[in-house]
Amino acid sequence: MIPSAFSYHRPSSVQEASRLLAQFGDDGRAIAGGHSLIPMMKLRLAEPGHLVDLAGIADLKGIRADGGDIVIGAMTTQHDVIGSDLLGAKIPLLRETSLQIADPQVRYMGTLGGNVANGDPGNDMPAVMLCLGATYQVTGKAGERRIAAREFYQGAYFTALEAGDVLTAVRIAVPPAGHGAAYEKLKRKIGDYATAAAAVILTMSGGKVASCSIGLTNVAETPLWAEEAAKILVGSTLDAATVKRAVAAAEAITAPASDARGPAHYRTKMAGVMLSRALAGAKANAR
Ligand SMILES: Cc1cc2nc3c(=O)[nH]c(=O)nc-3n(C[C@H](O)[C@H](O)[C@H](O)COP(=O)(O)OP(=O)(O)OC[C@H]3O[C@@H](n4cnc5c(N)ncnc54)[C@H](O)[C@@H]3O)c2cc1C
Repeated sequence: MIPSAFSYHRPSSVQEASRLLAQFGDDGRAIAGGHSLIPMMKLRLAEPGHLVDLAGIADLKGIRADGGDIVIGAMTTQHDVIGSDLLGAKIPLLRETSLQIADPQVRYMGTLGGNVANGDPGNDMPAVMLCLGATYQVTGKAGERRIAAREFYQGAYFTALEAGDVLTAVRIAVPPAGHGAAYEKLKRKIGDYATAAAAVILTMSGGKVASCSIGLTNVAETPLWAEEAAKILVGSTLDAATVKRAVAAAEAITAPASDARGPAHYRTKMAGVMLSRALAGAKANAR
């Protein structure tokens, strides 16, 4: 439970952090809240020779409105997400999801940026970001670029980030007023990662679904955007027969591992159950 030796660096700007990470290449890692990386280092599943701590970079913190978008700095903690009045008013799904991550101790340290950059399919925020159509802002060797969350996840712990990249912020278009959303997560105990979870955002018009987006957590090597399932629901009243078809479409794209949380078939079925519940919850809070 003791990590291997490393050098510690504490840059005060994004550019300096990016330069250090580019210099160290595979031997360097950014560290944010440390609540995924440090356990991995203690287990010797990660042995970086250089840690580049992002905690000293003031520009990476905070939540602000920018036109029709909300921009959340990568070093904003999960606790800060829960306490944000702006997010509570505009994107309450983020608060609801953050409250289901781990426990208060972890949420005081763990950051939104670390949660989405980590690449662990068990992290809760990535599927929510696919659901919301978020964009990740990244500064790297070639300057700044934006990556759609839906194109970011390539495999377990493999993302579109390259050596020298610092995720600086998550940008989300404010969902329409009156939208409904929900995150439903099955876990074995408080503080556990999901056996399966589903995020839904939808709008209703005249009693029918006008738009819908669905994300699934921990039922494949990457978070999943269940595009076909959402399409099935558009135009429906969320009647039982249509929901059943959508759930089957969502289950069909899952490929979970059999592990301590249950056999693969069970986890696929739990993804379907979580989706049904999230749809009902989103409908109930849509106006
Ligand atoms: C007991 C326990 C229970 C947990 N349960 C859950 C849970 O139920 N759901 C859940 O989603 N998470 C859970 N977590 C993980 C927690 O949410 C982590 O805080 C989160 O996954 C990572 O955020 P961090 O800020 O701690 O990142 P770190 O651990 O510091 O970093 C994680 C990875 O992301 C990279 N990284 C971090 N920030 C950046 C950046 N700005 N730019 C580029 N790369 C970056 C790091 O290099 C590292 O590879 C749990 C953790 C613990 C210890």
